[in-house]
Amino acid sequence: MTLKDKTTITFYNGLTTIGGPMIEVAYGKSHVLFDLGEVYRPELKLPDESYQTLIDNQLIGDVPNFYDPQVTGKVIDHERWEHAAAYLSHLHLDHSKAMNLLAPEIPLYAGPITAKMLPALNERGDFLLPAVGHASNYTRPIIAATYRQPIKVGDITLTIWPSDHDAYGATGLIVTTPDKKIAYTGDIRLHGYHPEWVHEFLAAARKADALIIEGTGVSWPEEQHDQNSEEFTGPKNERELTQEIVQLQKENPQRQITFNTYPTNVERLLKIIAASPRTVVLHAARAHLLKESLGKDYPYYYLPQEAKFTDLRPELAIPYQELLLDKSKYLWQVVGDVVKLQKGGLYLHSNAEPLGEFDPTYRPFVQQFAAKKIEFKALRCSGHADVQELKEIIQEVQPQALIPVHTLHPELEENPFGERILPKRKQTITL
Ligand SMILES: [Zn+2]
Repeated sequence: MTLKDKTTITFYNGLTTIGGPMIEVAYGKSHVLFDLGEVYRPELKLPDESYQTLIDNQLIGDVPNFYDPQVTGKVIDHERWEHAAAYLSHLHLDHSKAMNLLAPEIPLYAGPITAKMLPALNERGDFLLPAVGHASNYTRPIIAATYRQPIKVGDITLTIWPSDHDAYGATGLIVTTPDKKIAYTGDIRLHGYHPEWVHEFLAAARKADALIIEGTGVSWPEEQHDQNSEEFTGPKNERELTQEIVQLQKENPQRQITFNTYPTNVERLLKIIAASPRTVVLHAARAHLLKESLGKDYPYYYLPQEAKFTDLRPELAIPYQELLLDKSKYLWQVVGDVVKLQKGGLYLHSNAEPLGEFDPTYRPFVQQFAAKKIEFKALRCSGHADVQELKEIIQEVQPQALIPVHTLHPELEENPFGERILPKRKQTITL
């Protein structure tokens, strides 16, 4: 470092969209980049996911000196940047999908669960963007960080904290340079399984020079999305959601009950398995994901003609026919074949795909159940802090500067403790 060095933050993507933040912090000859996702915009119906298409449509940031030169055609200036590293906060695609574009020589850090699960999720090559010169199911190395332990990147230090979001193993980040402290929330909430981890992270971030905060919860001011509002009738938090699923099983002792959840929301699934009075049976692909990433075995089934996984224990297999006939013993994960379910049954759709009305496949999906006279019950719990929780988070950190990202309305997040910065795409600010 020299006397004139200053901490800068450059915002390459994911500012006024939900997802895809790509932010660089630089000091002297050191710099770090977080996250490495792709903005999710299925309505664009793009012809391909090539680097150029993603750049042209602003689905990833045009970040210099981090991407693999074989992808960009531009060399990395390693003399200017002697120390570089990247970090990804959690395994959702809008934070991780572009990780294979990172130059192979730049180390990539993530929390230990994220580091372990991403290769398992990409096992069929349909989760991440491909790396040049590798098969589509390749996942570039991720260094599993030890929580709360500083990682040196030249003049910059990264500290990764366990946090809470609807992605298993989600983390937050504190970046320190010789003169500044910057906190990045990743995606965050206070109504999940581990609010105490979030509070601990926020305490460590207290009085940061800058708090880069996600603002998904302020994106729809015209709608009432708050979990804590009186109008809201669904589960207020993950605990209530699990309780409701248990309650529905108790109230319906003689009724076929099926469900689905989102693959990366592993923790919700584990809680449902642990709390359910019925035996929870997973589709084999999901059981395999849990085996591969956590080493855990659960009862599972195959659809007819499906290829078998060699790592699943044969004695835990339940015949598909047995599930189709059952009314009382099983709570099982449905992945299609709705026509075969029993009339009068109950299906619990817990933030599974299709996710909601914005997806054109959602209505037809719901219709299938109605056509079979099966009750369709959406049981949601948001992965994001709502308006009130965002205020609490800002209150706990009391940052000098608040920088909202990952939201349709960054101007709706306010900082009673200092300034608020609303950066433009590709803008660099000096702290
Ligand atoms: Zn997320």
